[in-house]
Amino acid sequence: MFTLDETNRPTLSAGGQIEQIGLSPKLVARDADGTVLLRRDWENNTSLDHAALLKELFDWGVDHLGDREVIAIGHRVVHGGTRFAAPCLIDAEVLHALDDLCSLAPLHQPHNLAGIRAVNAIAPDLPQIACFDTAFHHDRAAVATRFAIPRALHEQGIRRYGFHGLSYEYIARRLREIDPAMAEGRVIVAHLGNGASLCGIREGRSVDTTMGFTALDGLMMGTRSGAIDPGVILHFQTALGMSAAEVEDLLYKRSGLLGVSGISSDMRALAASNAVEAEEAIELFAWRAAREAGGLMSSLEGLDGLVFTAGIGENNAGIRTRICQRLAWTGLVLDEAANIRGEAIISAPESAVTVRIIRTDEERMIALHTIRVLG
Ligand code: ADP
Repeated sequence: MFTLDETNRPTLSAGGQIEQIGLSPKLVARDADGTVLLRRDWENNTSLDHAALLKELFDWGVDHLGDREVIAIGHRVVHGGTRFAAPCLIDAEVLHALDDLCSLAPLHQPHNLAGIRAVNAIAPDLPQIACFDTAFHHDRAAVATRFAIPRALHEQGIRRYGFHGLSYEYIARRLREIDPAMAEGRVIVAHLGNGASLCGIREGRSVDTTMGFTALDGLMMGTRSGAIDPGVILHFQTALGMSAAEVEDLLYKRSGLLGVSGISSDMRALAASNAVEAEEAIELFAWRAAREAGGLMSSLEGLDGLVFTAGIGENNAGIRTRICQRLAWTGLVLDEAANIRGEAIISAPESAVTVRIIRTDEERMIALHTIRVLG
C-alpha cells in the first residue's frame, strides 16, 4: 500500500502477504520499517477464498489510510501473452482476454484474476491496473522468442515469453538513477529467489532471458527443475507411466534445491547444513546460473555489468562468490570483503565487469505503473 505526495511520488505505507489460501490462511501487514501492523491466522479454514480474504485486507487498508482515499489498485498479472506489452486499465474486455491466457499459466494466472474479481465485487468503481510479468520482455527480437517447433504452434502462442519482468524493469530503472553508464551498457540481472531467472538487458531493454513459455524454464530454483532435456519428460510419461499431473508436480514442486538436496528448498537451510547433498545442490545452482549467464553474454555480445537481486541474490554472499568465480574468465574480479559486507558494488576496481547488489521492489514498480496509467 502506497501513499502519494503532492508530486505523485509513492511512499510505502504498508506491505504484507496473504498466504495459504484454501488451507490455513494467514494475513500479515507491516509498515515500512517492518513493524507488524496486522496479523491474522485462520487455522484450518478452507472456506476462506480470495474474495473473503481480500475483503479483510481491503477493509483493514481503508481503515489504516484514515482520511486518505483509495484511488486505484495495481495487480501483478503473470501473463500478458502477445497482446499486453504494457500495464493497462482493466475493464470487462481486458479481463476476458486475460482469462483466455489462463491456459498459458494455469498455476498463477487464475489466482491473479481471482484477486481482480474480488476487488470488483468489493469496489466496482475503483480503477484496477494490470501489470504484467511478461511485458518487459515483449519487444525482444523475434529470434529470442522462438522455439524450434513448427511455426503454426508459434503463431498459436507457443513461444518464449519470459517472466520476473516487474523486477527487471525496477532494476533497469534504478540503475539509470544510480549508475547511468552501466544502465546504458550490457547487463545481466540475476533474480535469485524461490523462483529464479536471469535477464540480459542492453540500454535498459530486455534482450534475452532464461525463462521461456513458463516459469519452469532456465535456472534451477527452490522446487522447480529449470531447463531439462524434453526427452526426460517423454521418458517420465512413456517408460515410468507418470501422468501429466504427476510430471507437473515433480517438476514444479519436488525438484530444484529441494529435489537435489532432499533437505530443503530454502537456500539458508542448505547453507547451514553439513550434508554432502546440500553442497551438491548449492554447487549445481551456482553452476547452472553461471552457465546460463554465459549464454546471455552471447545474446548481449559482451558484458559490462552484473546485478544480483531477490532473496538469494541480495543476501547470500556465498552464492554470489561461486557464480562470480565461474565468470572470472570474463575479467570479472570480485571484491570478496565488499561481497561479504553486502555493499552496493562488490567488484574490484580493476574488474572488467561491475557487479552490484540492488534490492528489487516489484510492488513499487506496480505502484509507479498504476500512477502512470491513471494519468
Ligand atoms: P520469492 O521468489 O518467493 O519472492 P525470495 O526472493 O524471498 O523468494 O527468496 C527466497 C530465497 O532467498 C530462499 O532460498 C531464502 O533462503 C533466501 N533468503 C531470503 N532472505 C535471506 C537472508 N536474509 N539471508 C540468506 N538467504 C535469504
